[in-house]
Amino acid sequence: MEESDLDLVMEVLEAELRPYRDSHRVYDRLPPSGRDRGEILAEMQELASKEEARWRDGYASGAVYHGDQDHIDFLNRVYAVNSQANPLHPELWPSAVKYEAEIVAMTASILGGGPDGLASVCGTLSSGGTESIMLAMRTYRDWARDTGRTQSPEIVVPASAHAAFDKAAQYFGMKLVQIPLDSSWRADLRAASEAITGDTVAIVGSAPGFPHGVIDPIEELSQLALDAGVGFHTDCCLGGFVLPFAERLGYRVPAFDFRLPGVTSISADTHKFGYAAKGTSVVLYRDPELRRYQYYRTADWMGGLYYSPTFAGSRPGALSAECWAAMVAFGEEGYLAATDALLSAAAKIRAGVEAIEGIDLLGDPLWVIAFASDELDVYAVSDQMSARGWSLNGLQHPPAVHICTTLRHAQPGVAERFVADLEESVAAVRSAPGSSGVMAPIYGMTGTIDTRSTVEELLGRYGDLQFKV
Ligand SMILES: *Cc1c(COP(=O)(O)O)cnc(C)c1O
Repeated sequence: MEESDLDLVMEVLEAELRPYRDSHRVYDRLPPSGRDRGEILAEMQELASKEEARWRDGYASGAVYHGDQDHIDFLNRVYAVNSQANPLHPELWPSAVKYEAEIVAMTASILGGGPDGLASVCGTLSSGGTESIMLAMRTYRDWARDTGRTQSPEIVVPASAHAAFDKAAQYFGMKLVQIPLDSSWRADLRAASEAITGDTVAIVGSAPGFPHGVIDPIEELSQLALDAGVGFHTDCCLGGFVLPFAERLGYRVPAFDFRLPGVTSISADTHKFGYAAKGTSVVLYRDPELRRYQYYRTADWMGGLYYSPTFAGSRPGALSAECWAAMVAFGEEGYLAATDALLSAAAKIRAGVEAIEGIDLLGDPLWVIAFASDELDVYAVSDQMSARGWSLNGLQHPPAVHICTTLRHAQPGVAERFVADLEESVAAVRSAPGSSGVMAPIYGMTGTIDTRSTVEELLGRYGDLQFKV
């Protein structure tokens, strides 16, 4: 790629990131005197209402998992009641401590722990799936170091696992060993078995994985971990609050949780299908000894004795309160009904994708519907969908696109509209190959660039762009 091509891509991206630059005042320094609060709120309301229709009406993949106005209003009231709480000060807000302990217990109880399951299962709250995963990976690193297993930790991770595992490896000085996928887009077992070495500290599987929504062979993978005497992490960020209920609704769900003896940790995102506000997730461990490695503790700090369970110090207790309130407001019945609605909508989308000639469904998913094409540029199809208002996710290796179904798509007519728009988009690309959108050129370029460093330069420039006023 030429430097000038890169500049062109950046121009397109900058326009997308900064649509308000010309219409709204830009603050590159503090305003000399404070603005009227009512005026600030009015401006924010204006921007939010411009952005609302797209996610509210179900044009987004993932992003907003519930989004009904009455649920949003309820969570907002809960936030207002708890807005000052900080779990770092339990003496001031023991309510936040209660909420967090109970969120962890309730989550454990649907994933094979708790009063009716394995009683030793425990965990902590975190700020999101990425943090839950990074905490668990660092826990295995330190466990392996302290028990004398290895000083050069490796984690064995399916190629479809979330980028958070690579991020953990980069942050914590671990080696990421990737397992290829088999023809059904699940981690290849023989490759997994061959990837295990004396330096392996944990093996990972997803239930389901982000790209294709496919559940890895968790039973077999976790058995490999058990045999090797290492940890096994099930990434249930996406599935933690869907699969337990799908199973009870009669869907075929392979074993993935603490009922399997080799599973030693699980991440489950309350801020996805737990229907809490953004900013919470749960990381669970098979027993408290393992969880101990996650804690930060110091006895020597001048500022006093200090302990924090996760990466942050001060944390928003209001988000924990919202999470607790969402879980208790739903209850088992609420999650069962939501899962039923979600999976019905997803089945319509899946059937629609399967029926459209020229694109192919990947794997055997329940609600993340990924498709590729042998015939057409699938990114151009996605750009056609963008032109019709949709915001889908681009995948690569191989080129594909997915929609993560949410309750937004369970609204009347939305799944049908997706299928109709996809049919039109495929037809449009077939009759006029090429694309006027953003995704096809960018992904097309990254597909042809053989130097990883150019792509990383592109992402670096994107980062700089995000913080350019
Ligand atoms: C969303 C997701 C994550 C990461 O979660 P964040 O909350 O975005 O940090 C990890 N794994 C899977 C399978 C996910 O879907």
